[in-house]
Amino acid sequence: MTDINTFEGRPEKQAKWDTRYIGLAHHIAQWSKDPRAKVGAVLVNQGQARIVATGFNGFPSNVEDSAARLEHKATKLRMILHAEQNALLNAGHGARGCDAYVVGKPVCNVCATLLIQSGVRRVIAAAPRRGTASHWDEVGLLAIEMMREAGVAFSPISGEQLDALGLNRDEARRAEDPFAAHQAAFDFGHGEGGRAPD
Ligand SMILES: [Zn+2]
Repeated sequence: MTDINTFEGRPEKQAKWDTRYIGLAHHIAQWSKDPRAKVGAVLVNQGQARIVATGFNGFPSNVEDSAARLEHKATKLRMILHAEQNALLNAGHGARGCDAYVVGKPVCNVCATLLIQSGVRRVIAAAPRRGTASHWDEVGLLAIEMMREAGVAFSPISGEQLDALGLNRDEARRAEDPFAAHQAAFDFGHGEGGRAPD
């Protein structure tokens, strides 16, 4: 019997659902109250065709997300949970074997450790770039290195996938690096030329 929910040997079907889940993660990212970076994460059990959990970046439950805290960068960074962290906590043991879709930022080193340890098998997110001074690129590359060693597959979100969702490429990249004075432009993967400098 063929499992109709697995994408083995059916890359077109996988690409279609990848694009749908990327769109969902982008939608969920908009629920974040972070004024500078809105990130969404969706954990999917592909074998069961089931969305296991979602998350967006924000403060812990019942911790006041006042404008004063959200707009003070150092304070915010000490209090905020990343979208991937919220999704993993929402999923609990259900995260094992899931694919994680992340939109808004590259996956950071801390989230990578948690995704690996939770048993996530594949991560679909913006690809960090090499050779920039961006903090997010630096930690993003370390995240990719760890995931590779741990056997977690990584699929970069492509510009074509953003186009298919009607998402503006520049808009989707607009995610401010909290540790840099300049806005970071993220590479969404293959098929693109003309990368913007930092
Ligand atoms: Zn993170």
